Amino acid sequence: MYINGQWLTDRAVFPVTNPATGETIGEVPDCTDSDIEAAIAGAEAAFAEWRKTTAYHRAQLLYRAWELMIRRKRELAELMTREQGKPLKASLNEVQYGADFLLWFAEEAKRVYGHSIPSARDNQRFMVQKVPVGVVGAITPWNYPVSMITRKLAPALAAGCTVILKPAESTPLCARAMVEIFEEAGFPPGVVNLLTVSDPAPVGEAFCRDPRVRKLTFTGSTAVGRQLNALAAANMKRVSMELGGHAPAIVFPDADPVHAAKGLALVKFLNTGQACISPNRIFVHEDQLEPFLTELTSRVNRLVVGNGLADGTGIGPLINERAIQKVDNQVQDAVSKGARIASGGKRLSEGELANGCFYAPTVLAGVTADMRIYREETFGPVAPVISYRSEDDVLAMANDTEYGLAAYVYSNNLATAMRAFEALDFGIIGINDINPTSAAAPFGGMKNSGLGREGAAEGIEEYLETKLGGFAI
Ligand code: NAD
Repeated sequence: MYINGQWLTDRAVFPVTNPATGETIGEVPDCTDSDIEAAIAGAEAAFAEWRKTTAYHRAQLLYRAWELMIRRKRELAELMTREQGKPLKASLNEVQYGADFLLWFAEEAKRVYGHSIPSARDNQRFMVQKVPVGVVGAITPWNYPVSMITRKLAPALAAGCTVILKPAESTPLCARAMVEIFEEAGFPPGVVNLLTVSDPAPVGEAFCRDPRVRKLTFTGSTAVGRQLNALAAANMKRVSMELGGHAPAIVFPDADPVHAAKGLALVKFLNTGQACISPNRIFVHEDQLEPFLTELTSRVNRLVVGNGLADGTGIGPLINERAIQKVDNQVQDAVSKGARIASGGKRLSEGELANGCFYAPTVLAGVTADMRIYREETFGPVAPVISYRSEDDVLAMANDTEYGLAAYVYSNNLATAMRAFEALDFGIIGINDINPTSAAAPFGGMKNSGLGREGAAEGIEEYLETKLGGFAI
């Protein structure tokens, strides 16, 4: 825990577990109510000075943090793999992606432009300035334990806000390593604070109720986001909510089904399917079902499941037992209603996998709308394949969800791709592109996938207030 520039260790602790081996890999302090109070008071006190710093100064500190992150890339990636489970190569990619936000927002800090507006009165001038919102409470998930931190902290700090970070209880070690970087980069005491906690509810409640916290930024499940949003609304807080997803992927008849299967096999099983933008419903035209399934299944059969630190591992464990149960329940439900397991479909616990949370990468064919997996976010390594007949049908099926985060389209026809882009009610659409994310691009969802955007110019707006000056001259 890091409050007001001090690392606090003399507290009760809770353990952190490696999901690939079941081993305890560390322990972190469990914060108390008075720690929450101290962090809010410290962030509030630090804001008074931090808001007055120049954008150029804040950019310099962010730039230093970026340098430190790049220098420690391997160390951070190895820690991430031990704490969260993803293969080392994926961890290295995530550290790079996370660092990109520091560099992007170091530059963006200098482009927080105001403007002037002509008045109807000749003796009046209007000037609009953008100012930092104030103290930010940031709650992050475990699935991207480094990049979800920089995606929030980089724009908040660039805007001139101070931050209290509460990371997921499964991945506090990555958060600690990131806060060490902010400390070494020279952010003054109180500007970045870290609360590690085994029961997140009291921290969330304090962020929503305490008038000194002006903004809540949350990434996690829709269920928790909805609760926090309701509480924050009662206290008129600014919020950003990056919530769940249930991404459709549509393979149109003019696409190459083999190429589409290659791309979707890659993106579906990234992070063991534990991504909010993971394709969760794969719609394939009935004429192309066979070549698509053959390619997808053969790729999935070749995926090597194991400890992310071992050479050659293509897919790591799920985060915990609860995740295994959720995935298996969805698979069993689908099978009981007529789906066919084309690959996988069971827990793996042989040999070296015995103490970890491993589930075989799975392809389900013949998925239909009455199955739970058709409606519920899976957050696991299961690719449900659904066949369709017409463009109108598939666009309606794709939009038939409470979520609106990401969607994917495969088509070699520009007009088809454009019609799909316009018809799909999702915040992020990959068109023949399985990685439509970058620090430079706005990331966020519609409907129950949330509010606000992260990354891009939109990302810093989330941490700014608009202030009008009317001058009589
Ligand atoms: P979760 O909602 O259980 O937890 C997310 C965070 O919220 C954690 O830090 C957790 O400690 C905290 N939390 C849980 N209950 C809380 C409470 N009552 N008060 C305050 N904080 C609380 O979600 P998860 O299972 O850790 O993460 C997976 C979810 O996150 C998925 O639904 C996924 O789609 C979503 N997600 C969304 C994005 C996005 O950008 N839209 C990115 C990553 C993950």
